[in-house]
Amino acid sequence: MILLSKLKIKDLHVNVEDKEILKGVNLEIKPGEIHALMGPNGSGKSTLSFALMGHPKYKITKGKVTLDGKNVMDLSVSERAKAGLFLSFQYPVEIPGVSLANFLRTSYNEIKDTKINVMDFMDMLHDKMDMLKINKKFAGRNLNVGFSGGEKKRTEILQMAVLEPKFGILDETDSGLDVDALKVVANGVKKLVGSKLGVLIITHYQRILHHIKPDYVHVLINGKFVKSGNYKLAEKIEKTGYDKLKEV
Ligand code: ADP
Ligand code: MG
Repeated sequence: MILLSKLKIKDLHVNVEDKEILKGVNLEIKPGEIHALMGPNGSGKSTLSFALMGHPKYKITKGKVTLDGKNVMDLSVSERAKAGLFLSFQYPVEIPGVSLANFLRTSYNEIKDTKINVMDFMDMLHDKMDMLKINKKFAGRNLNVGFSGGEKKRTEILQMAVLEPKFGILDETDSGLDVDALKVVANGVKKLVGSKLGVLIITHYQRILHHIKPDYVHVLINGKFVKSGNYKLAEKIEKTGYDKLKEV
């Protein structure tokens, strides 16, 4: 029997400092699917991604998250990554003295439980950089030091390309990107998705969705999904704003 991979979020309630932020979220993502999560500022979008990653401040009070049937809440942060979960803000820090290439190789070895040799890794890295239209010189730069907003975002997508997770949660990947960088990131995500990766793109603008054309769009308001639909829903929101949906 072939077990189809799935990230399943069921009736998820999350508290931050004793305040309920997520009030029963349901979502299922399969490899090959692109889901977009939209919603106004403060609706709980980032809370969802922090909770999925196991941030200690974000307490799951009810509900369940499973990855291929395994209870994600029972896994440590690194076990979640090993199980195939990727979050875009996993390593937003500046690390002087560590090159991007070294950093990516270290995380590759850790997540894949392997020790790839440097030459093989560089070959693979260069292929992925080509695909994402990232200049190869970039691999030698110190991690995040002096990276522009757009470069950081591209690096995140590169990291996702290298780590080959089953599911990627990309929070506000579009913020700080100019139009060209936005296209590169969007096309990169599309290429990576293929049949092996499922993605949840979190954004409050419709801009990046223009290029990515997600299969599903969900709207989160005040900790609850108020509407789900296809790409047309994102277009509608761009015209009417979120206020109309609040009445639903
Ligand atoms: P979004 O990403 O949709 O803009 P967030 O998930 O960041 O929204 O925030 C949802 C709500 O939870 C907000 O009211 C925010 O102030 C609160 N919140 C989120 N994270 C924290 C935190 N670490 N400490 C205190 N409040 C938080
Ligand atoms: Mg946010």
